[in-house]
Amino acid sequence: MRTQVVIVGSGPSGLLLGQLLTGAGIDNVILDRVGKGYILGRVRAGVLERGTVELMRRAGADARLNAEGLTHDGFSIAFDGRDHRIDLAALTGQHVTVYGQTEMTRDLMAAREAAGTSTFHEVENVALHGFDTDRPYVTYAKDGVARRIDCDVIAGCDGFHGVSRRSVPAGAMRTFERAYPFGWLGVLAEVPPVSDELVYASHERGFALCSMRSMTRSRYYVQVSADERVENWSDDRFWDELRSRLPRHHAEAVTTGASFEKSIAPLRSFVAEPLRFGRLFLVGDAAHIVPPTGAKGLNLAASDVHYLFDGLREFFLDKSMAGIGAYSGRALARVWKAVRFSWWMTTLLHHFPEGTDFEHRIQDAELDYLTHSHAAATALAENYVGLPY
Ligand SMILES: Cc1cc2nc3c(=O)[nH]c(=O)nc-3n(C[C@H](O)[C@H](O)[C@H](O)COP(=O)(O)OP(=O)(O)OC[C@H]3O[C@@H](n4cnc5c(N)ncnc54)[C@H](O)[C@@H]3O)c2cc1C
Repeated sequence: MRTQVVIVGSGPSGLLLGQLLTGAGIDNVILDRVGKGYILGRVRAGVLERGTVELMRRAGADARLNAEGLTHDGFSIAFDGRDHRIDLAALTGQHVTVYGQTEMTRDLMAAREAAGTSTFHEVENVALHGFDTDRPYVTYAKDGVARRIDCDVIAGCDGFHGVSRRSVPAGAMRTFERAYPFGWLGVLAEVPPVSDELVYASHERGFALCSMRSMTRSRYYVQVSADERVENWSDDRFWDELRSRLPRHHAEAVTTGASFEKSIAPLRSFVAEPLRFGRLFLVGDAAHIVPPTGAKGLNLAASDVHYLFDGLREFFLDKSMAGIGAYSGRALARVWKAVRFSWWMTTLLHHFPEGTDFEHRIQDAELDYLTHSHAAATALAENYVGLPY
């Protein structure tokens, strides 16, 4: 089999890239090691920047997002028993859209099926070959039968644990990493959210986030230690812990109910450089991870897709190498700013178990500064809504 672009991974970055390429008449095939149902069962991000929404429009997959996505003009930071609202609209003239990653993925899958573009799920032993030449190819097995796809370009959209980054020869890549000594225990429940905007709570017991997927479905998180186990958390224990970290007016407004998803995600910052190795391009979580505090992971996957799609369009349609040559530098410049912002939000709002009294006082001072300085609030807001592409 032959195609122009093999996309490894059918998460949001692979699907979005595939849909944009198909729209531009560039042939592509997606391979994923798991099935559609498994991918749609993963509960992850939910806050979309304007650039991500715009890419969904360009991909022709934004009808439901426009109808069901919630426009958020602000969010609250709660600390010291009070709330401080960050007015995104007033500070930046922009907003964010709350729409679950699962729904975005579902819409992109439906658009891909409607376009009749090939996706192979539940493939095994994906291996990338010859990407340092102009004739790369990908091998894999499907239903026990070995297969090969020849192509011009491979897009590694296969997440942090995928094969693409691991295929790069040792010495050709530099990595940067910070692990945090805690994770997020997340719960999804069919209950109305505590507020119609997100609430980020900093508390001496630890961070908490009140988030949502719709006005009837809530997503809540509490900071837990890095080695915590989800089995230790009954729903009752979770709701009690959440309420203990919120100012009283929010705690009293929490509607509890049975959770239907509960999981713990470790927090880490990670960047691999560069993002291009000959004809192989790393995209999204395959190349970088941010802690979810700034709501940037999915949005960074989307901005990578934006830069790579520009480059591939020039490569295939204008026969120019300029765009793919610039991809890594353009994408990484934006990635590092989001890595900085996500690290800063994480450092500002979490309780660090090993933190000194000095560091706790610095956190207090920074939160106080945010509530009194228009400039500080604006810097937070412009990063939160997403820096321009
Ligand atoms: C638990 C959790 C919570 C999160 N919460 C947030 C949040 O609140 N806000 C936010 O912005 N971001 C969040 N993120 C991050 C966000 O979900 C990711 O940034 C986003 O999914 C990245 O998309 P992607 O397409 O690059 O990678 P992925 O979504 O990881 O998709 C990669 C795909 O590649 C496939 N794959 C992997 N290996 C192979 C292989 N060898 N062969 C073939 N296919 C392969 C996988 O099956 C998967 O379908 C969260 C992530 C996690 C894990």
